[in-house]
Formats: sequence, structure tokens, C-alpha cells
Amino acid sequence: MIDPSLIQPLEQGRFRFACRKALPCFTMCCANLDLALSPYDVLRLKNRIGLSSDAFLEKYTTVAVNQAYGLPLVRLKMTEDEKKRCPFVTPDGCEVYEDRPGACRIYPLGLAASKIRQGYKAGEYYFAVREPHCLGFKQDVEWTVQEWIKNQGLGEYNAMNDLFMDIIAGRSANTIKALDDQKLRMFYMACYSLDEFRRFIFETTFLDKFDIRPHGLSAIRANDTELMKLACGWLRFALFGEKTLHLHSGSLR
Ligand code: SF4
Ligand code: SF4
Repeated sequence: MIDPSLIQPLEQGRFRFACRKALPCFTMCCANLDLALSPYDVLRLKNRIGLSSDAFLEKYTTVAVNQAYGLPLVRLKMTEDEKKRCPFVTPDGCEVYEDRPGACRIYPLGLAASKIRQGYKAGEYYFAVREPHCLGFKQDVEWTVQEWIKNQGLGEYNAMNDLFMDIIAGRSANTIKALDDQKLRMFYMACYSLDEFRRFIFETTFLDKFDIRPHGLSAIRANDTELMKLACGWLRFALFGEKTLHLHSGSLR
């Protein structure tokens, strides 16, 4: 949650910023964070580190039920040193830089996402987050929001996060709070525990029920991003009865 006092509008969609190792504030921003991880963040980080989903979740995250929606969401666990540093920060910077979470990429911008489902409207609103210790704003490099998104490799993160938002955005809190424990476990498995979801696909009767040829069976077997796309579609089918997957003829729900 961003401190509202740090939020500033962008003038004409532009801002000045540069982050460098030479700055005295280098890596100060990588400690004591309340850093929510999206499902795609978890996918990228666990593959970067070379752990299974469950081993990554166990070692690096905490899970708590979000009060607004009653859904289990995960956060990156800070270390227990006196500064509560991020587990991936080193004196030379971020050791998972190419696979750092979306929240680290978008900084020093914040995003207020307004995504209304069923194709009516999708809006994105960016603002600056001016933390007092961050000297990056004093550097003479100017960006537009679009330039920053491209420079930070945010396009793929935003596209995958939109699939996640399609599961929860636009639904009333009561709709989601009505999900029973079994469905909440399904949500956690499909969003975060991808290796378990893969076993669910290939080691149960899933393929007898669902025709996933449109998703590409071999792609799903080999590629975590394709598997996550299927997981998002399956959640919408299983939790909310949407027609996001095809049943084999003769299969009952
Ligand atoms: S300039 Fe800002 S983002 Fe970069 S290291 Fe310093 S505090 Fe962090
Ligand atoms: S993941 Fe990298 S960029 Fe993000 S807080 Fe940790 S060290 Fe900093």
C-alpha cells in the first residue's frame, strides 16, 4: 500500500528520473517493503532461482487473506536483519534484476488500475511515488510513461497481470467471499503453485474432461507462461462458471 502523501501527479505524463549505483541512496529502496507478488512475479522468480513453486513460496513468501476480497495473496518475505532487506538485494544491486517483480520495475511510478470486466472499459492511471530518500528524481533524464514501461520491460508483466485481474476485478467482494475453502485452495494452486497445477492437469482426469487443444498441449507442458494462461482461464470456468474452457463432448461439469 503506497503512502498517499508520497503520490504526485505526472505533469503532462512526463517525469525526470535515473537510478545509478553511484547515488548515495543506492539500494535504500530495497528494504522494509510490503511487496505483493503477482502470480507472474512468482513464476519469473522461481524459475530465475531454479526452485519449484512450492519451494519458492515456502522460502520467500508469506500468504495472507486479503481483507477486501477474502482471497489468499502472497507477499515477498523480507530478511530478518536490522533493516529488513529484500532477500535479493546485494551491494551491487538486485541479483534477480532481469526477473524482478513488476512493482520493482514500475517504481518510481505507481499504477491505479481501473479494469472493468466484460470488455466495457480498461483504464490505467499512472502517478509518481516520491519517496524522500530517493535521489533519482534529481537526475536530469526525462521519460514519458510509455518510454518507462518499455525501458523496464513492463509490457509482458502488465499483460499477464491483466489475466489475473480478469479473475478478481469487477466482481463483488461478496461473490468472492462466498467461495468455500476448496475453491480458495484451487485459487492459490492455479495462481501461485504452478508446478502443482501442472500435476493437476497431467496426472488427474483433467484432460478427459477438458479439450485444451486450443491452448496447445505441448506448449502447456513445457512453458510456464502458457500454463499460467490456462490456469487463469480454468479459474474463471471453475469459480464463476464462465465459458473460458471447452469441455469434451459428453463431459459433465
Ligand atoms: S535512485 Fe531511488 S530507486 Fe534508485 S537506488 Fe536510489 S532510492 Fe532506489
Ligand atoms: S527484487 Fe530486486 S529490485 Fe525488487 S526490492 Fe528486491 S532487490 Fe530491490
